[in-house]
Amino acid sequence: MQQESDILGFTRIRRVAPVSVATHGGRAKCLQRLIRLDLPVPDTVALSFDAVHRLAEGQSFDMQALLRVFGDAPLLSVRPSSEDPDWGGPGAVLNIGMNDARHAALARTHGKEAADSLYLRFVQTFSVHVERLDPEVFEFDKSTPVAEALKAALTAHEDETDEPFPQDPAVQLGQVLRSMARAWEGTSARLLRQAKGAPADAGLGLIVQAMALGLGPGESGAGVIQLIDSDTGEPMIKGRYLRQAQGREALTANGDAMYLTQDERGCSLEEAEPELFAQLVATSGLCRSRLREEMQVEFTIENGRLAILDAVRAPRSSRAALRAAVQLAEDGIIPKEEAICRVPARSLTELLHPQVDPSAPREVIARGIAASPGGAVGRIVFSSSAAQSFEARGEHCILVRRETTPDDIRGMHASVGILTERGGVTSHAAVIARGMGVPCVVGASIRINSRERTLTFEDGYTLSEGEILTLDGAKGEVIRGAVEMLPPVKDHWYLQLMDWADAIRDIGVRANADTPADAAMARDFKAQGIGLCRTEHMFFEGDRLTVMREMIFAATNEDRIEAISRLLPMQRSDFIELFRIMEGLPVCIRLFDPPLHEFLPADREGAKELAEALDLPLSDVTRRIEWLSEFNPMLGMRGVRLGITFPEIYEMQARAIFEATIEASKHGAPVVPEIMIPLVSAKREVELVKTQIDAVAAAVKNATRSEFTYRLGVMVETPRAALRAGEIAQHAAFLSFGTNDLTQMAYGLSRDDAGRFMNAYVQQGVFPEDPFHMLDFDGVGELLKIGAERGRAARPDLTLAVCGEHGGNPESIAFCRDAGFDYVSCSPFRVPVARLAAAQLAADVPK
Ligand code: PEP
Ligand code: MG
Repeated sequence: MQQESDILGFTRIRRVAPVSVATHGGRAKCLQRLIRLDLPVPDTVALSFDAVHRLAEGQSFDMQALLRVFGDAPLLSVRPSSEDPDWGGPGAVLNIGMNDARHAALARTHGKEAADSLYLRFVQTFSVHVERLDPEVFEFDKSTPVAEALKAALTAHEDETDEPFPQDPAVQLGQVLRSMARAWEGTSARLLRQAKGAPADAGLGLIVQAMALGLGPGESGAGVIQLIDSDTGEPMIKGRYLRQAQGREALTANGDAMYLTQDERGCSLEEAEPELFAQLVATSGLCRSRLREEMQVEFTIENGRLAILDAVRAPRSSRAALRAAVQLAEDGIIPKEEAICRVPARSLTELLHPQVDPSAPREVIARGIAASPGGAVGRIVFSSSAAQSFEARGEHCILVRRETTPDDIRGMHASVGILTERGGVTSHAAVIARGMGVPCVVGASIRINSRERTLTFEDGYTLSEGEILTLDGAKGEVIRGAVEMLPPVKDHWYLQLMDWADAIRDIGVRANADTPADAAMARDFKAQGIGLCRTEHMFFEGDRLTVMREMIFAATNEDRIEAISRLLPMQRSDFIELFRIMEGLPVCIRLFDPPLHEFLPADREGAKELAEALDLPLSDVTRRIEWLSEFNPMLGMRGVRLGITFPEIYEMQARAIFEATIEASKHGAPVVPEIMIPLVSAKREVELVKTQIDAVAAAVKNATRSEFTYRLGVMVETPRAALRAGEIAQHAAFLSFGTNDLTQMAYGLSRDDAGRFMNAYVQQGVFPEDPFHMLDFDGVGELLKIGAERGRAARPDLTLAVCGEHGGNPESIAFCRDAGFDYVSCSPFRVPVARLAAAQLAADVPK
């Protein structure tokens, strides 16, 4: 048989047979495991990926030899078996082999009604899914007697194809297999599975199995059973059973299906057939413990005898997946490290998404389909490139599209929420958003004007690009303005998994946090400190912005110092608050980074308001704005360049940090602040700033008669800083790689404008991925490695970190861990993802 199967491309699945996930797919391997458990599985044959591929290419196959495995006049089913069940595949085809003769024989053994019904189902499936005939022609009203419907279906087939319904089982089987093989290789199927992460050349195996008939005399029917709730993961017997049915019909039969366990709502298998029920529950338990997974078992009862046809991973939400993994480990079925590896790190984003506070006032301005859970507040954008620009500026945005296409993927990644005018729960936007864990509402009652970049609601209310909306992805609601969010629930299962993860993790995870709210969230998500506090964000708020502008407009040094001295107490209280929240955990504060003109009004109206506020002529204000504007602000006077040109700013910040250190240490754990210099490209810059900050430290110590220590570090964001890391590290206790700017500068690619051509670049394979999303290991990664190596060679105790957007990305974490980094820092929401991803890298589980 084995030799024969090699030649013919099929393998009969037995206890010992060469079947593997990599050659025959997950379903085939699982069926072999069920057979090894001595479960009553009907005869089954697996076709390898290779055989299916050859079939799709049109090679002929010895169907007679395949049929012979199943004895005389068999009825067969064919199911797909891809490597990963999530990649999908064509739907199952049942009852292959039904023809006039088999129909007549079945009418004698199983009754006319059952025979008619079986034949009708097959004619319908074969005509619509294999021969691709018009489905409407083969649809019949429920009230049509089955015998009549069968006759009509056979006639319709003949009318549509000019041929009688094929009678030869070998021809039927051949056509079914070929059509499923071709469907897999079709463009839309390929794109769909690629969106789920399948490689372009992923293979499909096919399973041919003898039918266990759920129709006929005695207790006959079909159903599915699983031992967890798919939404919550809670242990419970779930499923349905339908008499006189096949396949998964019980799941779609609405009122007709039976419950499995006793249920007030209707009759149950437990009551009707207690012995079969007990056998089924025992079988499911055996599958769970021996297959080491929560399975959904497909079963048929044929005249009182139980047959197990198939078992697949029980469908599950992210929440249920996590609970199932932890429960399996707690039950001693899998080791903890395996549980850690079973939860996709990125799925925590969905789990940990905030929800729109149900008790907060909300004004619903449109409704749509709730396509992906979670709440989101953001500025609306109408294109992927706009979404990417907003994200690059650190602003949350909601992508609003008529419907999304694969071209929008990068924009969807850059958004906190997605809203579409068209589409249903399985539309592109809905599927992708769920996969990414981004809240999404589709098919909403909105009108989009892409040219004007406006969004209009039914009552005529119109929003323009950049204005704020709230989405409730769980309820399908679009809400006016920004609504309060509730933090996500963290239950025992989550906390347990994360405890196990932290115990084996060997790379630190900090959070990028600028405000007390961010810091509180960072603590909540168990970040090991703040890896990047962007201090400039503290200056954008109301009264501070005005003082900041006064500082920028100061005509003399004295005026500037006066304005800065008013900023000092504000900064000091910011830092005291951060230190208080972080309770002695490290807090890394980055000195002022952006170009000053970012604080200035962008239009004439704003300039006028500013002139009024400062009591200056408008011309003075516009002249100053012009003077400050640069052709390339991101490469201009920002970061340390600004710090050296206007030393008062960094001095004020250093003073605020030190005074806050003393204050916070009085009431809580001693604080050792970390101060980080941005956009360094030369050693001398570090020397100058270090001298300045040391002087401030000495002055504060003297004035307050207090002692404290601090760590000074450098942000590596320019290629030169990475190359010269050896000499820079002589003056720095740590190097933190800002991979956003480093990517921008390594590629010479604007962070704010790359969205315009990024899609074209990725589509044409110029870049494998958007390097602002996925760290470019080859180029930017090489700079990281060079910087790390040269830095550590000069200073072995040098702390190494990454704090760009890539820090929370599981692939970048693997890279940084290999390169010997001490920690990564990412936005608070991604901290759990990073913690779990880091643990998965350290877990001793075969990968
Ligand atoms: C970076 O450049 O990677 C970084 C973290 O700084 P920012 O995003 O604030 O420029
Ligand atoms: Mg930067």
